[in-house]
Amino acid sequence: QGTLMKGKKGLVMGVANERSIAWAIASAVAAQGGEVAFTYQGEALGKRVTPLAQSIGSNLVLPCDVSDDAAIDETFAALEKEWGELDFVVHAIGWADKQYLRGRYLDTPRDAFLTAMNISCYSFSAVAQRAARLMKPGGSLLTLSYLGAERVMPHYNVMGVAKAALEASVRYMAADLGHDGIRVNAISAGPIKTLAASGIGDFRYILKWNQYNAPLERNVSLEEVGGAGLYMLSDLSGGVTGEVHHVDSGYHVVGMKNPTAPDI
Ligand code: NAD
Repeated sequence: QGTLMKGKKGLVMGVANERSIAWAIASAVAAQGGEVAFTYQGEALGKRVTPLAQSIGSNLVLPCDVSDDAAIDETFAALEKEWGELDFVVHAIGWADKQYLRGRYLDTPRDAFLTAMNISCYSFSAVAQRAARLMKPGGSLLTLSYLGAERVMPHYNVMGVAKAALEASVRYMAADLGHDGIRVNAISAGPIKTLAASGIGDFRYILKWNQYNAPLERNVSLEEVGGAGLYMLSDLSGGVTGEVHHVDSGYHVVGMKNPTAPDI
């Protein structure tokens, strides 16, 4: 047990199960002495999240569908009542209708576009509005992105557009909140087999492609993303804001297929 997060309290949003990136970050924070509250979407996930939270000594587990402003208000009112203030928030939430996570981006209808933007981009701003009010200088807000925000990835489609907007919102909020000493960053994770990822067309192919073509010649682990999350939430990254930090075995620097990689 380390002490990097000793005395810090924060909220982790987006745990669905033990394979969630949110859980990897929460465990890393708890292992360094941080106190973590959780939100979940819907009662079914609540039943999964509660025992995970208890396993790291947390009993603060709240429902929060981020499409609902009143639910976000209630979450932060509950945290204010319990803790008074907040040191960090992790937003590890994204959603798009999987019908449109295959085929052409061009065919995305308006309602699917707006829902993807609402849940995957705006919700981070909505959460940050409430969280920042409870934060002192040193506060840290973190979201999760993917390379599909910067480059065209097959099937990522409307999620890529939403993640591009999310990354832009990280930069704007970093500027807005810098004066208050609050940092806003994103981790752009390489592909990991989670519940959300299973909605993306040909995800196994994407995993293989990254494994063969990334400089480290492998995919990243949940623990590695958890470790980067810990860095972003702790004072170790005190000088870092507005950043999109790639944790992807270096894949984002690659311009062409590795000529020695096997066929997939
Ligand atoms: P996950 O399925 O474990 O987590 C996604 C979470 O989003 C779930 O807990 C789900 O309940 C939550 N969510 C969806 N709609 C919601 C709503 N309306 N209200 C509240 N919560 C809602 O999958 P994950 O891969 O851990 O995803 C976490 C984040 O990481 C997402 O933003 C995802 O886009 C991002 N990401 C994932 C990968 C990957 O390959 N798995 C790579 C890069 C970025």
